[in-house]
Amino acid sequence: MSGQFYIQLLNPGIGLLFAVAFFLMWLNRRDRYVAYAASAYAASAIAFLILDVGPALPHELHRIPANIGFLATGCLFAAAIIRRYALPVPWRAMAVTSAISMAFFLWFLLGRPSIGGRILSISIGAGVIAAMVVRALWPLKKRHVIDRVLFWVAALSALNLIVRPIGLLSLRGGFNSYDGFQQSIYWTTVQFTQAMVSIAAAISLMVAVAIDQISELRRQVDDDKLSGLLNRRGFEAKAGAALRRCLDSERPAALMIADLDHFKQINDSYGHAVGDAIITAFGAHVRTIGPAGMIAGRIGGEEFALLVPGAGIEAGRQLAEAVRIGLAAAAAGHIPAALIPTTSLGLTIGVPGTGLSALMHEADQALYEAKRCGRNSVRTFTPKSVLLTANGG
Ligand code: GH3
Ligand code: MG
Ligand code: MG
Repeated sequence: MSGQFYIQLLNPGIGLLFAVAFFLMWLNRRDRYVAYAASAYAASAIAFLILDVGPALPHELHRIPANIGFLATGCLFAAAIIRRYALPVPWRAMAVTSAISMAFFLWFLLGRPSIGGRILSISIGAGVIAAMVVRALWPLKKRHVIDRVLFWVAALSALNLIVRPIGLLSLRGGFNSYDGFQQSIYWTTVQFTQAMVSIAAAISLMVAVAIDQISELRRQVDDDKLSGLLNRRGFEAKAGAALRRCLDSERPAALMIADLDHFKQINDSYGHAVGDAIITAFGAHVRTIGPAGMIAGRIGGEEFALLVPGAGIEAGRQLAEAVRIGLAAAAAGHIPAALIPTTSLGLTIGVPGTGLSALMHEADQALYEAKRCGRNSVRTFTPKSVLLTANGG
């Protein structure tokens, strides 16, 4: 068996391995884009198998299914990337491009045979499909490095597919027969660059899948479904980090803890579902009125914490009052009209050197004051020493 034979197994082998890898990832979390990626690599493995390993048919007819396979690979891979961003997949444009590409291919196979013509037909068709990915991703904000990597993989594929054949064919002036073609620099560079692009694309997409799966898990671990806010774990992690950043740069931070009033009684009189509806309304209300940068979580059954980096005592008090005053309106329509939910809030301001747990303790003390003084109110934490001076002085 010649060395060439093993080289020929390279692309089908890579395709098969990645198809299996993406299939296993898809089994874990059934994202459609991962299924497209698995199918793309399966199609590419089949296409390369037909072309490089399978028997040659008379009139080169085996090249027809092989090239359909290549175009299918392009379409499915494009669909995988576009779908990852929940954008509409341009199936129709891709199908039309593939059909035109195949029509030219058939003409250059059966009508006016030309290897160069066939190469250009398929390669440019696949390049146009890759360019559709570039076009779809162009306007998107590329937040994560992987978003930029996927964009550039598509852009380089498009270049590789469109520019390479034109360049090489114009350099070589085309091929007269397959004998020269299989051994040619052209076909060797196709196999090599195709293998490189295909590995780069697969690895980028795998990293993207891993990032997506991890951030989904993180969301599940840190979020509270009922309120749509963070849960205690998520709040403590995010607020702790934000508080440190804030105090390190000598900006203030307001922390408030809200506790719904007489909630046990509400549950007892109206039922648990009504209680849940108030918790949901509270979460939506806070998200609506809270400033950008606010970190809000449900830290207990009917207890919430809000950290507002940059807010001093006045801004903190205004937000706490807005939360308190707007709650009834936010819940109206979701609960019986006779029920007017209220909340008590305790507020404190972080100074350099305070940690989150000390701050939460202060806000809790202020909240206790609000409850003690009749509920439905906002109290600000005052250190004992100040109180003693004020009262006893
Ligand atoms: P206070 O005004 O002093 O805060 O009185 P309260 O009744 O709100 O406080 P208490 O701590 O006695 O009761 C809290 C109640 O909140 C008890 C519990 O049944 C209810 N609760 C906790 N989690 C949930 C929840 O997820 N859904 C509902 N519907 N009720 C909850
Ligand atoms: Mg409570
Ligand atoms: Mg309560």
